[in-house]
Amino acid sequence: MPKKDDFKDVDSIEEQDKKYEDICYICRRPESVAGRMIKIPSNICICQDCMQRTFDTMNTSGFPMGDMTGNGGTPNISMINLADLQGFMPQSQKLKKKKPKTDKAAAPEIDIKKIPAPHKIKASLDEYVVGQDHAKKVMSVAVYNHYKRVATDTMDDIEIEKSNMLMIGPTGCGKTYLVKTLARLLDVPLAIADATSLTEAGYIGDDIESVVSKLLAAADNDVEKAERGIIFIDEIDKIAKKKNTNQRDVSGESVQQGMLKLLEGAEVEVPVGASSKNAMVPMTTVNTRNILFICGGAFPDIEEIIKERLNEQASIGFRADLKDKYDKDEHLLEKITLEDVRKFGMIPEFLGRLPIMFTLEPLSEEMLVQILREPKNAIIKQYQKLLALDEVQLNFEEEALQLIARKAREKKVGARALRSIIEELMLDIMYEIPKDDNIGQVTITADYIEKKGGPIITMRGVSGLLPEE
Ligand code: ADP
Repeated sequence: MPKKDDFKDVDSIEEQDKKYEDICYICRRPESVAGRMIKIPSNICICQDCMQRTFDTMNTSGFPMGDMTGNGGTPNISMINLADLQGFMPQSQKLKKKKPKTDKAAAPEIDIKKIPAPHKIKASLDEYVVGQDHAKKVMSVAVYNHYKRVATDTMDDIEIEKSNMLMIGPTGCGKTYLVKTLARLLDVPLAIADATSLTEAGYIGDDIESVVSKLLAAADNDVEKAERGIIFIDEIDKIAKKKNTNQRDVSGESVQQGMLKLLEGAEVEVPVGASSKNAMVPMTTVNTRNILFICGGAFPDIEEIIKERLNEQASIGFRADLKDKYDKDEHLLEKITLEDVRKFGMIPEFLGRLPIMFTLEPLSEEMLVQILREPKNAIIKQYQKLLALDEVQLNFEEEALQLIARKAREKKVGARALRSIIEELMLDIMYEIPKDDNIGQVTITADYIEKKGGPIITMRGVSGLLPEE
């Protein structure tokens, strides 16, 4: 029996449609730009300009209609069969209508009092993300200030600078995860883009503006909502200036140049529901002034640049130090300065538009154990829930968790390795356990992880332990 809820979406399609703007079939401009549309059957809309142009063309070219005697008609013209075009405008290419500007709407969209204070933002991040205290603190304050700036909108002569951020940290240490969690907590749309796929306009690859298109899609094509969203650009170190090259650097320095105006705030024309501009895709204008840009990257080998700088300073005058002093410094990355990032290949204008720079620490074994166990949706909690549905209790020995963390650390891909290790480990258990209804408890031991033995299986109602082989 279908439930009542199943019909809800179907019923509301017409309602949904009303929230989106009509788009001219010929010129692809939305209603807000082209004016009122003339609707013809099969859900096709044509703006008045295009309609007029069509009539003008018919008149000047002696279209068959114009000559009732049959002379002068244009041969071989076949009319478009409108019925064939049914449903030609996908929902993803429709724009949400702008809200009418009543007095109420003239008030700022974001209420300053409703923006959570930095300590509250950090406390919410703590529930999901392990460690990275410094990064969480910096982000909480930056985001708080950013939305205060958005809420106050125009400030007399003191204009608050945008809080775009640059986060630097090894792979798998939680950069993307932090941003995703932040966007969810603040309930703002988020677009995640990869800097490696971006190229200067006109070359193979995505245009720089495509990141704004993505955000628009994440905001259900609601321009106003998108204008308050967050864009995260990952792998930003991949658009560093290429060294020793005579060719035009279309995916490095040019991309940095191209991003300058986006980062600062500009009106950009973006395609709706597609990543590239073409004649068939409707366009709209998005202002990036209030969009928060967060760039992240691992900046491999930047430690060498930092070390070189520190060694240079240390070898001068009275502060002369041992040359290998920094070779084993685990916290070298924290000593990064703007100068180091510039030396890596980021241009000064680009860095100037990302005023907040901070680093994330590599995950230690202890942190990896915490990631397994503590966050709200920790991997272990997920498996425990899955097995609890079969009424089986899943336990992990402390030593086992530490072993998993050690193995994950060896792979050097941060917390990403944890999931693959646990998944491999749990495969047999998830396969075998449902076979026997009498199993009440499974305990993963260190021996099982080292493949020296099996997990401890406890039967229902039996207190003894039966090791499985
Ligand atoms: P990157 O730093 O390369 O962007 P991600 O943020 O994508 O790495 O991390 C990959 C996965 O690892 C995340 O989806 C998350 O589940 C987990 N993870 C990474 N760091 C942490 C952390 N500090 N706390 C909790 N989970 C984390």
